[in-house]
Amino acid sequence: MNVSREFAISLDNQDPLKHFREEFYVPDNQIYFDGNSLGLLSKRSEKAVHTLLESWKKYAIDGWTSAEYPWFYLSEEIGRQFAPLVGAKPNELINTGSTTTNLHQLVASFYKPQGKRTKILADELNFPSDIYALRSQLQLKGLSPDEHLIQVKSSDGHTLKTEDIINAMTDEIALIVLPSVLYRSGQLLELDTITKAANERGIVIGFDLCHSIGSIPHELSHWGVDFAFWCTYKHLNGGPGSVAGLYVNEKHLGREPGLAGWFSSHKAKQFDLENILPPALTAGAYQIGTPHVLSLAPLIGSLEIFSEAGIHAIREKSLRMTDFLIDLIEVELEDFQFQIASPIAHHARGGHLYLTHEYAASICKALKTEGVIPDFRSPNGIRLAPVALYNTYEEIYRAVHIIKRIMIEEHYKKFQNKRGVIA
Ligand SMILES: *Cc1c(COP(=O)(O)O)cnc(C)c1O
Repeated sequence: MNVSREFAISLDNQDPLKHFREEFYVPDNQIYFDGNSLGLLSKRSEKAVHTLLESWKKYAIDGWTSAEYPWFYLSEEIGRQFAPLVGAKPNELINTGSTTTNLHQLVASFYKPQGKRTKILADELNFPSDIYALRSQLQLKGLSPDEHLIQVKSSDGHTLKTEDIINAMTDEIALIVLPSVLYRSGQLLELDTITKAANERGIVIGFDLCHSIGSIPHELSHWGVDFAFWCTYKHLNGGPGSVAGLYVNEKHLGREPGLAGWFSSHKAKQFDLENILPPALTAGAYQIGTPHVLSLAPLIGSLEIFSEAGIHAIREKSLRMTDFLIDLIEVELEDFQFQIASPIAHHARGGHLYLTHEYAASICKALKTEGVIPDFRSPNGIRLAPVALYNTYEEIYRAVHIIKRIMIEEHYKKFQNKRGVIA
């Protein structure tokens, strides 16, 4: 195991993606390991925002059809560009809404309690927003969330077992919603195996790809996933509040969405302004209202970068980076009671690592004063995300040595072991 600075530099020199770092505004004097919460701004995204602003200035109302990127078709156009990232057909994709509103839309469309099949299967480790949405959808149907939401339990508090998930797919389950990568431990679930089991039992299944999109390749169509949804401000670098994405398997297209609006319409018929919705025959039907054009602009630039870099090369580098980080943690931090709570096996590891420590909140605060940007997750976790497009191996080397110094000098003890408002 080589954990030297020279080795880190040699990995950087051989890195086929190294030139992408120059495309981003990497904060000065910082080691930014929080790209899984908010990705960095790229120069191409900045340019795209300017272009869209200019098109408003220049075209006013005619921008909908005549701008350089006609606004009326932009959600579909960007949606198509998700195809190589999620392994889906262009007509199965749309850029719309937010993660949570898309989940509401998809549950409103795909949750059809009938006879004995009335329950929704989720897990106890998913991000709370998803759980809140599922509970409120049950309530809207007049069903008790305490009875009808089944959450697969974790035996170690950090990870889920595929067999526990499959065993929970009983004949009472009408719908399954799971994350692809768990937001704390970074466990990558066995999406293909889980989907296959759901398909065999006739249960509709959807995934939240927030922590895997832009970091890990997917084969949604091939696996037979019914629907998926994701945000675009984490690994996809779309900026704060950027417009989200969703996928609906082709076999479900052509129907009315659960939550309809005039942007659910077939595009050619939308301005007929009829009282009965003619739904789009694509995933575009899952839009509701007018697209947030200025908040989807950064994606024009950002997705171009992903298309050039290629998701497989990104995944390869990401795994190599977290491998190097794990090696460094094992060698340099062995005396300081950190636990790596992320799966070590490549097939189960997402794009970030999760370390637990009794003083995690204090350590995160101390790290920020030293220019290392991790994020703290309650109750005792430190997430570190070296991002393939803009982080370097040398930064990983330096970050771990900064953690080591903070522990040796007990610098973290100067900070309260409590989270801030946003953590
Ligand atoms: C980031 C994230 C969200 C955020 O939802 P928004 O609607 O974009 O605020 C939801 N679910 C998961 C799993 C996430 O990681």
